[in-house]
This record gives sequence, structure tokens and C-alpha cells, in this order.
Amino acid sequence: MVSRLIEVGDFDLVIFGATGDLARRKILPGLFRRHAAGQFPAASRIIGAARSDMDTEGYRREARDAIAEFGPRDADEAQIASFLDCLAYVAIDVTGERGWSELGALMRPDVVQAFYFSVAPALFGDIAERLARHAIAGPDARIVVEKPFGRDLASARALNATLARHFEERQIYRIDHYLGKETVQNLMAVRFANMLFEPLWNVHYIDHVQITVAETVGVAGRGAYYDQSGAMRDMVQNHLMQLVCLIAMEPPWHFDPDAVRDEKLKVIRALEPVPPGDIVRGQYAAEDGDPGYRDDVENPDSRTESFVALKLRIANWRWQGVPFYLRTGKRLRDRTSEIAVVFREPPHLIFDDHAEQQANQLVIRLQPNEGMNLRVNIKEPGPGGMRLVQVPLDMSFAEALGKEGRDMPDAYERLITDVIRGNQTLFMRGDEVEAAWAWADPIIAAWENASAAPESYDPGTSGPDQALGLMHRDGRRWREIKA
Ligand code: NAP
Repeated sequence: MVSRLIEVGDFDLVIFGATGDLARRKILPGLFRRHAAGQFPAASRIIGAARSDMDTEGYRREARDAIAEFGPRDADEAQIASFLDCLAYVAIDVTGERGWSELGALMRPDVVQAFYFSVAPALFGDIAERLARHAIAGPDARIVVEKPFGRDLASARALNATLARHFEERQIYRIDHYLGKETVQNLMAVRFANMLFEPLWNVHYIDHVQITVAETVGVAGRGAYYDQSGAMRDMVQNHLMQLVCLIAMEPPWHFDPDAVRDEKLKVIRALEPVPPGDIVRGQYAAEDGDPGYRDDVENPDSRTESFVALKLRIANWRWQGVPFYLRTGKRLRDRTSEIAVVFREPPHLIFDDHAEQQANQLVIRLQPNEGMNLRVNIKEPGPGGMRLVQVPLDMSFAEALGKEGRDMPDAYERLITDVIRGNQTLFMRGDEVEAAWAWADPIIAAWENASAAPESYDPGTSGPDQALGLMHRDGRRWREIKA
């Protein structure tokens, strides 16, 4: 099935932080893919901005390298050349005055203007202030703000206030790239475009929900940043929280940015505080000569968590009594992200073969191999009585929808295109981010005031034993961490 392409309008997109890791690995290759797919008009322009002294030709060479390394394997030379033609570069120090008038001279007032803040968060305010002061951003310009959006409620509020001095909420696109994943959007399609699941989507039919985001890598290379953050700030408050919202939200009245975000906000506000007994923190240990977490962050006393598991409760009619178990961590057994909605057992079992009958599960895989499967019980084929076996009704999106197995569009491709289109549905609103911090802050504060260190866990496992205990004591078990 070939996806429909809707061309966007003419645009000028400025990437602040154009020479950085994110621009090289995600933004430029993503833009290239959309350009190659024919989604961008010929007159669209992408303007790189960073301090490095370089001219446009130099930046085009950098972009060519980035596409060669992180772009599609089958990139065509004519397509690359046509993409590079759209690029320009301006050397700007966002904390100073250099470069702004050159940038202003390049911007066209009559096309969509978007400014991607792909720099350290400490610089977001400088960029917003100078864009306004130099009158570079028009009244409908959009700004794209990367994560992390604050490190607690106070800093998120301060950042929202800084941005609000120069831009209206309708102009601010706070990225959570999880929302750009095809499967995550499909969660809404599956729930709200089908009659099949929604009647069952509540405490009467769902036993619990499990969300796992597991990585095999450690924090080496970004230890200094990570040690100031930890799994709670880096993953739970934003990405896992967004997944919880999409599973738990009420149907919005329309697929419209504020209608969707209003419903997500209600979920966050309905979260109960998490008691200390319902949360487990972990740190990966050293093993076989491989460094442990504290070695990776070069802080022998670090108490920052590289793993969190917790049990979440949502206080509303739909979800009262249905636990949401969340876990995420580094150096785990496999790299996998999934949501499993585990249904209740049937009220009465008529088959003798009880042992093999298992609760239905709807498993939504975010990575690898985005897709969904519904695990159902059927009769094992063959004679010899009624024996049951659980099988997946499997749907891999790449197989079902991909063009000759072409990989699924990357989240950044989708999200940047939405910015240019002016659609904020998949971006976090300011009040949503603040509500998520208001929930996370007391948990983090309790850890910071506690003397206990996170539990140690062996690399290549599913985390500390205590995390298994979180489920076992409720008579449930985590799904295996398996790609
Ligand atoms: P990075 O590799 O450190 O790049 C930072 C960029 O900012 C460089 O282009 C740098 O170029 C530019 N820069 C620094 N100071 C500047 C200044 N005063 N004026 C103008 N430009 C300046 O960072 P990154 O990994 O790309 O991350 C960028 C943002 O994305 C951060 O907010 C990060 O948290 C977020 N993010 C990154 C990733 C990722 O995978 N990398 C994932 C999620 C979120 P010059 O040195 O040439 O000025």
C-alpha cells in the first residue's frame, strides 16, 4: 500500500544547532526523506545556524555526509543534489549579536516560517528573545523546542513563561518524538476508529497494562548529562507518560490538537501519587570488565537511577483498580519498547485444559518492528480432544503498509512535516508538560532526600529483582524483555 503524499506549503525552516548530533542523525536525514518523497515544494528552504564558521557550501558538505551516514541506503544522487540546493547556512551565536541580521535577510515573510531549537535547553530563551528583538519571526512563525523541557515543575514553568513572552502557545511545538512514532499514532486509530476494542477498554475487561522501554546500551558518552537526569526525568516524565495518556485517555470529540491534548491532560491530572513501595530504582553494575553505571558517569557515589519500575494508578471511573506497570532502563536484556494491554480471564472456564488458557493481550510494539499483535486462545490443531494454545494475530506495519518493505517513516520526519503544516496534535502543550512534572516532582524529591541508593542489577537482565517483585506480589508477571 502506497502512502498518500500531501505536499506542504512553501517554507523557511531554520535549524539552530545545525551542526549538532540531533541535526546530523535525525533532522537532516528526516528532511531529506520527505524531500525525496516529493512532499516539499521546490522553493522550500532549510537554513542551518550554529556558531561554527562555515559557508553554505561547507554546510552542504556536512549535510551530504549526514545523509550518507544516517539517511536511506538507496539515496539517489539527483535527489541528494536537489535537497542540498535547498540548504543555506548562517553562522550565529545565539547568545550574542553575530549573524542575526544575515538570518533576517534570508527569511521570506510570505511563507511558513519554522525555527527548530536543536540546542541545549539553556539557550532556548536566548533564541526566542533574539528572534523577537530582531523581528525575524513573523506573527505565525512556529518554534520547535527539543527535550528536555525543564528538569522539574519550576524550571518547566519558567521556560514556558520565557517562550510565552515572545510566542503564543499556538506557535510553540514541544517535541516528544515518541508521539511521532507510527505505532503510537496507530494506538489512537485502533482505539477510536474501530468498534472492536473501545467497549472493552476499561476496568471491567482489562486486568492491567504494562509498558516497557528497554535499552541494551549504557550511558557511556553522555554520562555527565544523564547523571543529572536519570530514567525518571529522561524517560518516564515525558515518553512513558505520553504512552500512558494515549492508552488511558477518553475519546476526544475530534482529532484536533486541543481536543486531544485536553483529554491527555485529564489523565495526567488523575494520576495518583506513587507510594514509595510501588516504585523501584536501579543502577546497572559492572560485569566482566564492562563498566557499571557509576564508572560510566565517573561518579562513584552517584545515586541517579538508570532503571525505574513503578505501578501507576489512575483515579477515574474507567481505570479505578487497573494498575499500569511501567519500566524503563539501560543495559537490559534486549532493546525493545512495547505496551501490553492484558485483559481479564473469562469469568468461567469451560475447558479442562485450563493451564494453557491465558488472558488475551493486545501488544503494541514501538520498536523494533513496529506493529501490533493480539494474543488469542485457539484450539491446538489435530485430534485428541480440546487442547488450547495461545497464538498471536500478528500485524507488522512495515509488512502490511510498507512500500516494498521500505522502513516506516521516522518520527522526526512526521513531526517536522506537522510543524510545517501547522498541526500541533502530536506536540505537548505547556500545561501538559507542567502537569507531568507536578506528578514526577514529589517522587524525585523523595529520592533526593532519601539515603538509600538505587538497587544494583546485572547488565543483560530485566533489571533489579525488586522490579519483578512489584508484579509478583500482585499475582502478575512482566512480559519477557525480548526484541
Ligand atoms: P549537540 O550535538 O551538543 O549540538 C549542539 C548544537 O548547538 C551544535 O550545532 C552547536 O554548534 C550549537 N550551539 C551550541 N552553542 C551555540 C550557540 N551559543 N549559538 C549557536 N549555536 C550553538 O547537541 P544535540 O545532541 O544535537 O542536541 C540538541 C538538542 O536536542 C538538545 O536540547 C538535546 O537535549 C536535544 N535532544 C538530542 C537528542 C540526540 O539524540 N542527540 C535526542 C533528544 C533530544 P556550534 O558548536 O557550531 O555552535
